Amino acid sequence: MRYLILSPPVHQPSEPPSGAFLLSAALAARGIEAPFFDLSLEFFHFALEKSTINTTPALRYMTSPPGSLYEPHQHASHSGVIMSALKRYAGSYPGWHLTPMDCSPPRGLHRPGDYPSMHTPFGDFYREILEPVLNERENATVLVSVAYLSQLPGAVELGRFLRTRGRKALFGGSLFESLSRTGTGMSLLKTFIPEVTLDDGSGLLPPNAGQVMDELVFPELLSKKDYLSPAYVLPVAFTTGCIWNKCLFCPDREKPLKAIPERTIRKLLETAPSDVMVHFIDSTVPLPRLESTLALLEDKGHRFFGFTRATGEFLKPGLLDRIARSGCSMLQWGIESGSPGILERFGKGIDPETALKVLRESSARGIRNYAYFLFGLPGETARDREMTLELIEAAGAAISFMNASVFNLPVDSELTERHGEFGMSLGTYDPGTDAIRLYSPFTCEGSDPRTEAKRFLWEAERNSPVFSNLLKSTPKWFRATHMAFMGPPTPF
Ligand code: SF4
Repeated sequence: MRYLILSPPVHQPSEPPSGAFLLSAALAARGIEAPFFDLSLEFFHFALEKSTINTTPALRYMTSPPGSLYEPHQHASHSGVIMSALKRYAGSYPGWHLTPMDCSPPRGLHRPGDYPSMHTPFGDFYREILEPVLNERENATVLVSVAYLSQLPGAVELGRFLRTRGRKALFGGSLFESLSRTGTGMSLLKTFIPEVTLDDGSGLLPPNAGQVMDELVFPELLSKKDYLSPAYVLPVAFTTGCIWNKCLFCPDREKPLKAIPERTIRKLLETAPSDVMVHFIDSTVPLPRLESTLALLEDKGHRFFGFTRATGEFLKPGLLDRIARSGCSMLQWGIESGSPGILERFGKGIDPETALKVLRESSARGIRNYAYFLFGLPGETARDREMTLELIEAAGAAISFMNASVFNLPVDSELTERHGEFGMSLGTYDPGTDAIRLYSPFTCEGSDPRTEAKRFLWEAERNSPVFSNLLKSTPKWFRATHMAFMGPPTPF
């Protein structure tokens, strides 16, 4: 059997989409022909070339900044050029909104029946760029991996395009898996993409080949375009599922925890080009697994970043030194709140004082810290929010980048099920109609914690210099990937 793996636009063009990349890696490891063609990356280059704004200097900077690190002001200025060029391109498609991370059609994302079927940003692109690749692989079954809502309009149109060409296709990926497990609208979606499967790719393997992620090698990549990053960003996971798995509002608690064998990670790292930036994509990087991989990362000269929890394990003597020495560019810390009561109520297993120590120790070793805070949880008081701001201010320069988000309640989670215990009333965005949704509106004892949180964040940005400086120094586009490559600002 021969396959062709595609990932539809829009996925950020700074690194390969992990689901499609790893599926291609898993099939290649079993000797199955399954090259990966990143349609999203191709789409950005296509759109930027068609735009009337000259993006050549901006693209050159994004792929080869001096010293392989971004200077924050220059990065902001070149990102602005790319944003303007995308906006100009999208201007030919009235009502469409397009950025390096988002795509929405004129009447929004939630009802595929509302997506225009003519004159979309993707039709000419599929004909010009995808068609020749399909023609070269006439007998290959097309596998389409979709991870984000921003890929949905491109995926619906891709399904239409493949059907008109009579191509056999299967659509899968984490978006469909999340919608079917913890969201709404899967049956609606199937009327537009009937080829959806919830199989994780294991069904494509020969009998007795194990789970899909048990074997991985660096796959064949068909796109010759550059990702918008100074080094190739390699997605790697130690586990699927979450090793903590206790947060009450987590939509993924039912996802089984599976460890990817150590030899598999080793093989993927060994077959990758040298000097990549490894992106550990685990929900929480398991520390023992990271520790046992440090020597190999150092040996291969790979740098790395990933998401973890700011717990006391990181204060083990010498550990952060070894992590920094082995090429750690950035750690993304899920801290969420400065209020011990909030953290305990929702099962976060984090203590703010320890988190603060971890941030300071990590920063002292030159590791960039990207800290996540979550406001607007049910029952959050004004004092809880202030405690979070106090934690951010106490950490100050120990935080390099910050994500201060407002809580969204998953359609399905333990907290949603137990909403009565937390004084919550559930609402709906779509009374009487079917729509694609991952979250539900809610109120808490007559008040709306999300609105209160937004007001607090608005005020914090105006009144707290530490908070507003952190927001300013956190790049808005290209997600965490570019933060891992961010250098210090050059003084004027
Ligand atoms: S750490 Fe993240 S993935 Fe793990 S249980 Fe908590 S919210 Fe879920």
